[in-house]
Amino acid sequence: MTRSVADDRAARPLRRALFVDRDGTVNVDLHYLKDAERLEVLRGVGNGIRLAHDHGYLIVCVTNQSGIERGFYTAEDVGRIHVRLNERLAEERAHIDAFYYCPHAPEAGCECRKPKTRLFEDARRDWNLDFATSAIVGDRAIDIEAGRRLGLLTALVPPRHPDGPVADEVAAGGIVPDLRALSFESAVLRILARG
Ligand SMILES: [Mg+2]
Ligand SMILES: [Zn+2]
Repeated sequence: MTRSVADDRAARPLRRALFVDRDGTVNVDLHYLKDAERLEVLRGVGNGIRLAHDHGYLIVCVTNQSGIERGFYTAEDVGRIHVRLNERLAEERAHIDAFYYCPHAPEAGCECRKPKTRLFEDARRDWNLDFATSAIVGDRAIDIEAGRRLGLLTALVPPRHPDGPVADEVAAGGIVPDLRALSFESAVLRILARG
């Protein structure tokens, strides 16, 4: 009897993921960050990621990087930033397992720019994820909206920009996260508390 690829996929255990936004959630949002050396990981993110790993979550970063199509930086620049990000996290014995990014400008009307869900679906296929037991942490309405479309547990953290607080666009957009936390680490603790 021959086994199909679909059989093999079904035989793999489902995994749960902690989806994380990048800019403003994991690192300071420097607006079209190009230079990996300027990357600044937010305090507590390493701890939060390590805790989630310890509880069996795969850590998957999903990020909109329209700066590629806009010509502000290249896919190679983004790749270097992700290498650098994991180097910084390694200093806290943490790491992100996978990165998915949309390179398109909003006008392109692609299917991968958050709040659209293509990148999450790609991750589900690649890693055999179970959305029903997965969660997302993000700082923007688009993160929460994507999470709600997929049935993820959604956690909102305040956006971290170098120039201080910005308006609460989630409240303005009428999109309600499952929980709000003051930091990435506390968002993770509250997600873990939900089981
Ligand atoms: Mg963000
Ligand atoms: Zn896209």
